[in-house]
Amino acid sequence: MKKTLLKILPFSLLLNLKIVKQYLVSILFLGNKYQCPNCNTGFRKMFKCGQEEAVLEKYQVIGSGIRENCLCPRCYSIDRERLIYLYLSKKTNIFSENIKLLHIAPRQSLRKIFKNSHNISYYQGDKYEEGYHYPKDVIALDITELNYNDNYFDVIICNHVLEHVPNDFQAMKELYRVLKPNGFAILQVPISLKLNETFEIKSNTAEERKQLYGQFDHYRIYAKDFTNRLESCNYKVSLYYPADIEINLDTERFGLNKSEYLIVANK
Ligand SMILES: [Zn+2]
Repeated sequence: MKKTLLKILPFSLLLNLKIVKQYLVSILFLGNKYQCPNCNTGFRKMFKCGQEEAVLEKYQVIGSGIRENCLCPRCYSIDRERLIYLYLSKKTNIFSENIKLLHIAPRQSLRKIFKNSHNISYYQGDKYEEGYHYPKDVIALDITELNYNDNYFDVIICNHVLEHVPNDFQAMKELYRVLKPNGFAILQVPISLKLNETFEIKSNTAEERKQLYGQFDHYRIYAKDFTNRLESCNYKVSLYYPADIEINLDTERFGLNKSEYLIVANK
């Protein structure tokens, strides 16, 4: 009996904390200036996100660096996840057709949406790293060597992952292999349009990588040639700025990064 009570108490405490947190969010943030499409909630402001590193500023790396009104106080979506959701909901049929979707390194906002979409067979995976916690339904995988048959998935979402992979070409080829013909992959990376060529040198320590690329576990800064890299792996690439998703899409209101575009790679 006592054991049962002990099991229940922490859960009820957590539940209460969650309720208190949502209540505080309601008081502090709810409003009309911003709108998170992922959780369909209006806010007067959102959280700032991103990291401050000289190299990110120097090369004006899109998708990194500090962004105001970036993190949704309710569902914790960040700017690029809202851009992905807007694209998927307005330009594709993935929420109405029966599809297989592979989501690499999923974050909670899109995870929740896909899990609640009953037409989607949802596969989630991540490269397990020591010191991190992964939800039970996120399986351990290596995107340079996937344990799936050829032509298996209709859609792959690999959002800010390739920059973490030492052999990114192998990962791009492997994702292409498991994608169905006519399937598509959203392959977002932090990218600098100040650079023509992807910047990567042999740097072996975390400290060097932090200085060179702005983060200890990044292996390069992608540049204008990222599209060429994908095309060399046979993808047909389309870029979608917010206005390509919907004319007059209100980037300010949705808390989007005005410089960011979606990289959609078709097989
Ligand atoms: Zn939200």
